[in-house]
Amino acid sequence: MTLHIAGAGMAGLCAAVRARELGLDVVVHEKGDRAGGSMLLSSCVVWRYRDLDTFREQCPGGDADLQQEVVERVDDGLEWLRGLGAEVVWEETGNPLTVGLRFDPRSLTDALVRAAGELRFGEGLPDDAEQLLLATGGFQGDRGLVSEHIHPGGALLHRANPWSAGDGLRYALGRGAALSSGLDEFYGRAMPAGPAVVREDEFVSLAQLYGRHALVLDDRGDEFAPDPISWSETDLVQAIAQRPNATAWYLVDEEALEVDIRGRTVREMVEAAREAGGEVLLANELGIEIPSAYRYAVHVVAGITHTIGGVCIDRQARVLRDDGSPIEGLYAAGADAGGIATGGYASGLASALVFGRNAAETAAQA
Ligand SMILES: Cc1cc2nc3c(=O)[nH]c(=O)nc-3n(C[C@H](O)[C@H](O)[C@H](O)COP(=O)(O)OP(=O)(O)OC[C@H]3O[C@@H](n4cnc5c(N)ncnc54)[C@H](O)[C@@H]3O)c2cc1C
Repeated sequence: MTLHIAGAGMAGLCAAVRARELGLDVVVHEKGDRAGGSMLLSSCVVWRYRDLDTFREQCPGGDADLQQEVVERVDDGLEWLRGLGAEVVWEETGNPLTVGLRFDPRSLTDALVRAAGELRFGEGLPDDAEQLLLATGGFQGDRGLVSEHIHPGGALLHRANPWSAGDGLRYALGRGAALSSGLDEFYGRAMPAGPAVVREDEFVSLAQLYGRHALVLDDRGDEFAPDPISWSETDLVQAIAQRPNATAWYLVDEEALEVDIRGRTVREMVEAAREAGGEVLLANELGIEIPSAYRYAVHVVAGITHTIGGVCIDRQARVLRDDGSPIEGLYAAGADAGGIATGGYASGLASALVFGRNAAETAAQA
């Protein structure tokens, strides 16, 4: 029996490698012209919360069974990736809430591709596959689906591979799949707003990660932000998406400029935004009453990296109907599988690793 996999990103490649280890024939269909999907563009930190309680606290709307599966199975998956020859660049995440590894994304992609077998580029979902894994990476690339589910106040900056546009979701719905929680949520970053030009190799370096240290105003000058802003700032980025034009101004004072966030100072992030052509004003040029301590105002737009909602799966990565029964021969993993991080943020690479491998193991028993 052949397992067909749609998508040669993190979930699809992990599934392909695991399925081949288990003796299955595998064909990977990749819509784009390269392997790696968004994984190749990512910071490549594959992590989990320290324990299930922390996961539940941080992502309270997520499915507890799927969260438990991630907590229990990621560590084994990380060692498996290392064993395939993927280069580890950090042994820890530097965040007391989480544990994990940071890989070099090129090395991780290459290690998986070497072991994944046949990859067919320029191919979408195969017709009439008896065993099919949907690993197409979410629906952030489809403006229509994003408007329908996320209702942004303006165009979001698309901070992901160009091909993940909801194909897996549409296909699964056509086969009777249930939708998960969190369809209006997404993981993203505040990015320099237009006229800045953000290339895909700058998705990491141009992220503006200091909303917690800023006064946040919308384009009308109204202050807003979740209180408190979470450590990942995903909640803030989602809030920016809802404001007019999906943009905001981050105002920072001298003290904030010297804060170090994941190895970069706020000043360096502001400079990067300016160099990319973004609007970085002296705070008093904004033309509104604000305390004089604020030095710069940086215009940011909500960048969408991947959707958090998707199709419902179980721990074996089987796609479920509304009544909870599995659809025979249909699996989903990665950002196509939703409802794991609802209400917060969790590593998309980790769930792609765990449920990609689980899908292969389930298919091997079919
Ligand atoms: C800048 C950036 C930084 C990030 N940093 C991190 C991080 O540090 N840690 C973390 O956990 N996550 C991070 N992420 C998110 C992470 O990359 C994703 O969560 C992860 O790649 C999801 O895996 P996936 O397999 O679902 O999607 P992808 O890895 O994107 O793979 C999906 C694949 O499916 C293909 N595809 C789409 N449609 C079809 C179709 N119809 N048929 C066939 N193929 C199709 C796409 O071309 C793509 O190759 C980051 C992402 C970006 C962009």
